[in-house]
Amino acid sequence: MSENKSKVYWSDLRAPMGDNLLKKLERVILAAGIEKIDFKDKFVAIKMHFGELGNMSYIRPNYAKVVGDIVKRLGGKPYLIDCNTLYTGKRWNSVDHLENARLNGFTYATTGMEVLIGDGLKGNSEVGVHCPENDLCKSPLIGKDIVDSDIIISLSHFKGHEGAGFGGALKNLGMGCGSRKGKEDMHSASQAKVISEKCIGCKKCKTVCNHDAQIYENGKCTIDLNKCVGCGRCVEVCPTHAIEFINNDSNVILNYKIAEYANAVMKNKPTFHISLVMDISPFCDCHGENDTPITPSVGFFASFDPVALDKACADKVNAMPVNDNSMLSEQKAHLEEHHHDYFHTIFPTTEWEACIRRAKELNLGTDDYELVYVK
Ligand code: SF4
Ligand code: SF4
Repeated sequence: MSENKSKVYWSDLRAPMGDNLLKKLERVILAAGIEKIDFKDKFVAIKMHFGELGNMSYIRPNYAKVVGDIVKRLGGKPYLIDCNTLYTGKRWNSVDHLENARLNGFTYATTGMEVLIGDGLKGNSEVGVHCPENDLCKSPLIGKDIVDSDIIISLSHFKGHEGAGFGGALKNLGMGCGSRKGKEDMHSASQAKVISEKCIGCKKCKTVCNHDAQIYENGKCTIDLNKCVGCGRCVEVCPTHAIEFINNDSNVILNYKIAEYANAVMKNKPTFHISLVMDISPFCDCHGENDTPITPSVGFFASFDPVALDKACADKVNAMPVNDNSMLSEQKAHLEEHHHDYFHTIFPTTEWEACIRRAKELNLGTDDYELVYVK
């Protein structure tokens, strides 16, 4: 990556008569220079998140079709792809995941593309990608169909995230392309513990744990560390905030590993990155619900540099007004202490900068960017 600023192309969401948002997205992608990639007869993975059932802020299939149509025009063979999850829900095996994708509107009829689950039926079709330059993850476990793809396009919904701070391009690639074991590896510093005095024995944590890690005795919960994979789901649902991560640095390590996994995904192949900064929910689209967006929607962003893209999107969101009646507005009193960083304000233990830092060290890009407005 050169020492020059990376260009990040973007447009707002104004759409006067005669124009529309699909045309605007196409203009941003083309302005960012996607045609510089040689797509001829290449297998092109468009990595996205199909949204957990019940969530309504995930990227609409119409936007995915715009990306797929461009790739087809440029001679490539595009398909939509994601990998299975660690936790309960509709996306932890390929059968349910594909049904979830269809129910949320991702079909050949709507997008002109097939949907693939990159790590197979049970999330164990994986390749260890040799990355000696990585520090913590020397051989990240990536879904095999992701590794077999010739070109990767990240199509991410930019929003908040309870562990990473926010979810953008690097998280879509790093966490999103890990197989189940890969996701366990990234979460391994995030094992949970219960503060017994705060536990009221409600068992809500059990309903979200996919690993049967809860033990209840005398009306209190403890967590079996031989079973806990550190997915963090129980931390989010506990009504009394009785569950914490054992390791204080767990979210820093998580972000650090996400960058190292993104490095493995991008290795030796052309990549291009698109983020839709709209419906900016506080939590990720893995949740089966979406709370009021924390700010108004911003627009479409595209770049060859995922680091610059993530930083530009975060900066733009942090410059927006706070939406009333949102999780962020409830925390308004704490904005100052978090230097007006919205992601730190809603999730004080997160540190998204760790991902940017590590990605820069790995030469995945720069956070020194130039915004180019596309009309
Ligand atoms: S959700 Fe929290 S309060 Fe309820 S049983 Fe689990 S640890 Fe205890
Ligand atoms: S105990 Fe909590 S953090 Fe551990 S696997 Fe279960 S839900 Fe995830």
